[in-house]
Amino acid sequence: MDEARAAALEAYAAEAAGCTRCPLADGRTNVVFGAGSPDADLMLVGEAPGFHEDQQGVPFVGQAGQLLDRLLDAIGLTRGDVYVANTLKCRPPGNRDPHPDEIAACEPHLFRQIELVQPRVVATLGNFATKLLSGRPLGITRVHGQELEVTLGTTNVMLYPLYHPAAALYTPSMLAVLEADFSRIPELLRRPGADAERAIVPRPGLAVEEPLPAAAGAQAQLGLF
Ligand code: URA
Repeated sequence: MDEARAAALEAYAAEAAGCTRCPLADGRTNVVFGAGSPDADLMLVGEAPGFHEDQQGVPFVGQAGQLLDRLLDAIGLTRGDVYVANTLKCRPPGNRDPHPDEIAACEPHLFRQIELVQPRVVATLGNFATKLLSGRPLGITRVHGQELEVTLGTTNVMLYPLYHPAAALYTPSMLAVLEADFSRIPELLRRPGADAERAIVPRPGLAVEEPLPAAAGAQAQLGLF
């Protein structure tokens, strides 16, 4: 594990635990920051914590979370292999949809998480995460299963929109589509992506073949050195 990255993520989680950027702070039990491997190649981004997530401070611990676990298991992954976060870190009252001002207030937290974890693939679960991270208004029914190269902050990732597990729980046809889309994740993770390109960016004192640390590679791509 990259200890510096894990420490930076932990420090940021501690900072976010006191967040008062929007009124959802008043009704929450816990900020649900995110969970999983700080070194994950795959990040999953849901909508917002529900009742159980708010109580426990951990994302996707309810029924949708159980389905997420089954979907991950089917592709040979566990929660410990991935990083799971949400668009909103605090529970909206009665699990209502996130409001645009709440999404805007919370967005810096998600972008910082992405910058710290440096995932290769970001799978957005449902409409809210998909619209936010694609920067497009297209709904999940149109774009699910269609990967898209995007730069999130300074991080190049492959965005992969998926139906939200909660929506698929009671709709068998949607579940079948979600399973089929999910089954492509290993292939997307294997694709040579931004990391492979960064690995050949020469830097004084490094052999060309030697992979650069991800963050240094991103800076090199930006022309910072
Ligand atoms: N739904 C979400 O979008 N996120 C959670 O953490 C739980 C359910």
